[in-house]
Amino acid sequence: MHRPLTVRFWGVRGTFPTPGSTTLRYGGNTACVSVHLGSDITLVMDAGTGIRNLGKTLAATPSEIYVVVTHNHWDHIQGFPAFQPLYQRRRVHCLLPTLGETITRALIEQMDGTRFPVEFDTLLSDRQVIFDDPRPVLTAIGLHTDLIPLNHPGGGFGYRVCNEGRTIVYLTDNELVPPADALVTPFEAYLEFCRGADVLIHDAQYLPPDMPAKHGWGHSVLYQALQLAVAADVKHLVLFHHDPDRSDDELDAIQTEARSWLRQQGSSIRCTAAFEGLTLHL
Ligand SMILES: [Zn+2]
Ligand SMILES: [Zn+2]
Repeated sequence: MHRPLTVRFWGVRGTFPTPGSTTLRYGGNTACVSVHLGSDITLVMDAGTGIRNLGKTLAATPSEIYVVVTHNHWDHIQGFPAFQPLYQRRRVHCLLPTLGETITRALIEQMDGTRFPVEFDTLLSDRQVIFDDPRPVLTAIGLHTDLIPLNHPGGGFGYRVCNEGRTIVYLTDNELVPPADALVTPFEAYLEFCRGADVLIHDAQYLPPDMPAKHGWGHSVLYQALQLAVAADVKHLVLFHHDPDRSDDELDAIQTEARSWLRQQGSSIRCTAAFEGLTLHL
């Protein structure tokens, strides 16, 4: 019997938190996605403001917690100081990829006593911090993980996580077709990385009218994410990292447009615009 594998979305917004009456349904918290393997292992991907509510839920469970980040940008770390398990007598693993020239340390460096009053070194929890390659640690707990460099200012990593034939790809803050001088990873390499995934979570922050003004900002246009999903033959595409200026009604329209584009291609891929509380059982 497989242990249940569950993906849950706690923050789906890019760039800045967006509370307010026009973002109630999709939510205004910044990036945070959890992957639960049974009830004993939780992988937290990114620590935007969404991690605060995840932390409240985890505080009441004995789950072993592994936090990874894609990169240092604020919207991926800013909720971490409010992550309740840090203040509990329990173990919290922080796996901060440091590979080549890309270093992710901001998650814990922000808790230095000046930017946040509580210093990371004084927390009650038993914090296991690794500045290295997170793959061996995650693979050892049954989450076979691969990384791919992002096309994003400052760099970063996407994650492919597999357990017993079930695969989740988390690729946010990624410009699939960047300007030539910003190209780190070509489209074909992402295609191989995503191939056959059960769930592909991909940045779809922009629409065609956002271009060319935002070309090179490190985010993808909706249709690029759709083309990747079709080419890689994934089962379910989750549109992620919504623009902070996008209202609930606009996101509804984007989801409708994405689904009708997929139908026109003859594709049976499921497509969902991510919202807080979205839960996928694999
Ligand atoms: Zn971001
Ligand atoms: Zn970013």
